[in-house]
Amino acid sequence: MVLWMGESPVEVIKISPRGYCYGVVDAINLAKRAAQDPHVPKPVHILGAIVHNRHAVAALEEYGIISLDGADREALLDQIKSGTVIFTAHGVSPAVKRKAQEKGLYCIDATCPDVTRTHALVRELASRGYTILYIGKRGHPEPEGVIGEAPDHVHLVETEADVDALDVTAEKLAVTTQTTLSKWDTERVINYIVQRYPHVEIYNDLCLATQERQEAAVQQGREADLVIVVGDKRSNNSNRLVQVVQEIAGRPARLIDSATDIDPEWLRGVRRVAVTAGSSTPSEITREVVRYLESLDLDVLAPKR
Ligand code: SF4
Repeated sequence: MVLWMGESPVEVIKISPRGYCYGVVDAINLAKRAAQDPHVPKPVHILGAIVHNRHAVAALEEYGIISLDGADREALLDQIKSGTVIFTAHGVSPAVKRKAQEKGLYCIDATCPDVTRTHALVRELASRGYTILYIGKRGHPEPEGVIGEAPDHVHLVETEADVDALDVTAEKLAVTTQTTLSKWDTERVINYIVQRYPHVEIYNDLCLATQERQEAAVQQGREADLVIVVGDKRSNNSNRLVQVVQEIAGRPARLIDSATDIDPEWLRGVRRVAVTAGSSTPSEITREVVRYLESLDLDVLAPKR
């Protein structure tokens, strides 16, 4: 839609694809069905935020679902006395699954199939004696779950400096990745690893949803003077969208949680603003942002003279 501010047209570009991915949609639907199913023991808990977005978490609370938040998911299990536990789309380690079963909890696994694939890969490589370099973000639940499959075989690396710090002599060496990293960062770190360990086997596990959203944000963001990314600050894929727009498209980008975070000053003199959203951002929140941008007071937006 094109708006007019004074004599300057402002266009709101809705970047596509954006927002919820199949893994997140499935996890949320699974949780809602569990809450409504009389055969599923209550109360229903989610081990960590089902996705890193407070609006999505709040929506599930309305179904009576209890979200337990905290970095140590084994410790979080201590807070559950009975009922059901849902493992989030990020996946959990075998130790967490074991503990939940030992406590007698009814377990529902909402791990995204793309994350499950990385778990299976790490298990398989470890059983064949491989050392695995896993490119991922420290402190994020997804690496914690994957590394938990074979902690003695996996080294977590984020940057080239982490690769330099490694002391690995294994002949059987593989590299794999978290699903939601920056496509460009990941390729750079993989290339660096290949330089140092030319014999390494590469399994790039960035998920399709992440790649498509990043490529769209870069290509369509290039057409804009400002890109707004709607997402939670804890959402890795939302932060990566901001990063790739700034670093690869060379455009300014702002991460916002909702329309109320927008400072109209950001739009002064802007002719085109593009909007995208992390794969954990509810569509309604993004639609509100677009509506807000399209309805801004034109005088507020008029360029300073
Ligand atoms: S971002 Fe990718 S890996 Fe994560 S839930 Fe979505 S599809 Fe699955």
